[in-house]
Amino acid sequence: MPPSQPIKAARGVRDVMAAERPVWEVAETAAREVARAHGYQEIQTPAIELAALIERGVGQDTDAGGKELYRLVKRGSEDLVLRPEATAGVVRAYFQHGLNQGPQPARLFTMGAMFRYNAPQLGRYRQFHQLDVEAIGDASPAYDVECIEMAVRWMEALGLRGLRLELNSIGDRKCRPAYIKKLVAYYRPLKDRLHPDCQRRLETNPLRLLDCKEEQCAPFKAKAPRITDHLCVECAEAFAAVRAMLDAGGLEYSLNPYLVRGLDYYTRTVFEVLHEALGGAQNSLGGGGRYDGLAAEIGYPDTPAVGFAAGFERVVMMMGEEGEEVIAPPSALVLVVPDGPLLKEAAEVGRLARTMVPTAVDYSTRSLKAKMRAANRLGPRWVAIFNAEESARRVLQLKEMAGGEQREVGWDELPALLEAELTG
Ligand code: AMP
Repeated sequence: MPPSQPIKAARGVRDVMAAERPVWEVAETAAREVARAHGYQEIQTPAIELAALIERGVGQDTDAGGKELYRLVKRGSEDLVLRPEATAGVVRAYFQHGLNQGPQPARLFTMGAMFRYNAPQLGRYRQFHQLDVEAIGDASPAYDVECIEMAVRWMEALGLRGLRLELNSIGDRKCRPAYIKKLVAYYRPLKDRLHPDCQRRLETNPLRLLDCKEEQCAPFKAKAPRITDHLCVECAEAFAAVRAMLDAGGLEYSLNPYLVRGLDYYTRTVFEVLHEALGGAQNSLGGGGRYDGLAAEIGYPDTPAVGFAAGFERVVMMMGEEGEEVIAPPSALVLVVPDGPLLKEAAEVGRLARTMVPTAVDYSTRSLKAKMRAANRLGPRWVAIFNAEESARRVLQLKEMAGGEQREVGWDELPALLEAELTG
């Protein structure tokens, strides 16, 4: 039975149509350029991963690795999910392909679709795209700065202004437990006055209390102990090194003591690039940090690493607001318009013209007049018109759409003539 309604796209996903696609291409090209300029190499990992990788590597307690995770119906024995982010997959690939045996750190980047079952709104989708950059295998805070710099430089290269970089350190396995004890001791007597979500966080993931955006918790948060006052010597030194390098590189930032990641394997640096014009809760263009504990979490040797992910949808949206205008090129510069059923001949002319410029052929059965009307809507620079008699002589009428100027051209002269027109 045919469906009673025309079938539309799924909720929370979006089509990138031809008018918008060139903007994406600019963003992708700039991402590749920035990453390669820093010595990073592009890889591609699958959109599906074993559930265990994501559950361990993203964390079942997080939204992305928990309630927002898309699980595939089990076929055979493999339990698969759609990746909600790329880091766990990239770290897996690093070990699986022996990059841990090569020069360290491995500098890798990838771009692709991520999937999260969240409530769709402007700037938040269920399928979205990220640039993901990772430096795996070295603990130097200089790599943290390198990642921050790439994120900011990429967005700046796209013409974005009004960027704000926020920075924090969340310590490591050595100093964080003691801080969390202090945090819990501070919040415990306030529990009844906290938002229900925060009452839960106090028991399950106290660090996330600092993320809370609820009015009712704000005054308590303001007086909460700050992790940066409780870092161990090594973490404090690393944090100071990051700040000194950012200063030396002329990268402005503000310290945000509430910027946290709720998972144990995150260590030290966390950062986020925000845009003031991106309203509300979706004001983050990208973020990242150090995750020295992740490799061990997914069953590999302890390996320090740092990286970031930034969202294409939001970056492209801001490019529309303040980036340079990107004009979509016409679909073709030449349109071949045969007058009559001259398919083979039209194809041949198309092939000749295409050696020089993007060329489309009108293979429809409509009248010449209707084909010319269609050509006007398509907007090529030239139309190449010929009928059976001209085809027999291997000539065509090349008409410049803008001026209306027309001349007879031999098929075999066409490429040279188009080249001369383009360069002349
Ligand atoms: P995260 O992986 O959650 O740290 O997000 C990194 C970046 O990815 C964010 O700053 C956004 O730009 C983008 N992003 C995350 N989730 C979504 C989503 N559901 N829709 C669109 N972009 C997203």
